[in-house]
Amino acid sequence: MFNEPVIFGRFLVNSTQGREYFEIYKKISPDSNQYKCIERTHTALGQHFLDFLEYSDEALPPIVSHYNKVFKYLDKDYLDQKKIHTTMGFIHDIYNSLSAVHPFWKSTFYLNPVLSNYKWYEFYYFREYMNYDASDMTEADRDSKMQHYWDQVRRSIMHELKELEEFLNFISSMRNAVTFCLDYSSFPEFSKLHTQQRAYLYQSHFDSNFMRNQTIQSIFNLSDRASAMDPDRLISFSDNNEVMVSSIISNANYYELIKKSKTALDFSALAASVEKTSIETTTNLDITTLEDISTICLYTFSLLVSNNVHVRPCKNCGRLFSPYNRKDELYCSRIQANSKTCREDYYDKQIHTDELIRYYRTAYKRENARKQRNIVNKPSSEKEFIQWTKKAKKALEKAKKGDISFEEFKKILDREG
Ligand SMILES: [Zn+2]
Repeated sequence: MFNEPVIFGRFLVNSTQGREYFEIYKKISPDSNQYKCIERTHTALGQHFLDFLEYSDEALPPIVSHYNKVFKYLDKDYLDQKKIHTTMGFIHDIYNSLSAVHPFWKSTFYLNPVLSNYKWYEFYYFREYMNYDASDMTEADRDSKMQHYWDQVRRSIMHELKELEEFLNFISSMRNAVTFCLDYSSFPEFSKLHTQQRAYLYQSHFDSNFMRNQTIQSIFNLSDRASAMDPDRLISFSDNNEVMVSSIISNANYYELIKKSKTALDFSALAASVEKTSIETTTNLDITTLEDISTICLYTFSLLVSNNVHVRPCKNCGRLFSPYNRKDELYCSRIQANSKTCREDYYDKQIHTDELIRYYRTAYKRENARKQRNIVNKPSSEKEFIQWTKKAKKALEKAKKGDISFEEFKKILDREG
């Protein structure tokens, strides 16, 4: 009865085109088994994964620490409805905050054991079983069912909290790996290496457990489907994804891969072999659990490594991005809070900075000339000049960051502030 999610996410990858999509599906009505796409994002290969790392890295720690506090409030009493209601309200708030961080999170709370067990708890509490065949349900039965399901809710919360805490480590380890293996702006000394060679270095020198000792089947639970991309189509949810082991992801053990080949990797042969087998397929993964998020991350990481995709921090916002068209793109395609693209935003800031520096230089020349003029008559003018320079430099830094306005900045430099 409760084994179909209200919402689930579908991740689609077309690595031949270097594109990926994330779709969120919602049940069209509670009784229907059909779903409609309510959200769809289209990015360069790997961008959802990078966004997930960037945003979760900041947002997850305070949410997990709040969850820990809610956990302490959890009571065994399965009959105290008021308390239970308040607790479940807190948990829903936590899910909502996580959902706002990234669409991956948003897809994973509808089939989770916490809410599923809670639905069963309510099923007995509100005597919903009366709608079905309830002839043999005694009050004692109902009581023990409620106790059982509330106990299951508490256990699931404990388990989920642990999983979220593990995510904190997972995200930081993924971020390290991404920077080391894929970010060519951070390690110019590795610029001649293929991403696979860098991944080998990473595994052999820094994190020997990274993506190793895990069989591909247990990491990747992927299904290969037709690339029907019409978001208006109605689809059915099925949780038996056929396991697909793609040749592209069997390279997850970079250490073994490179160690085995005694000479340097012959990429032309590799390219030729891929060329022969490359049929354009869209791989999709339906995501409903927290575990699915790790799968998407590991899968995407291995795709980026196999495809030698170079990521870099955006020149404007500093967040990692995967290039959409050209390898040497400098700005990401994120839209900033002022609804400007990073390219426009950077350009505007640049003009602003130029203006500030011009004003600073003029004022500096004026102050310096004043000091030279007065140095004989007024011995304190040297000291005054040094003080002014200190103040003006500080004001310049503040104005660049937008901490003070241009007007305030001018006043300080003109000794009016
Ligand atoms: Zn940016």
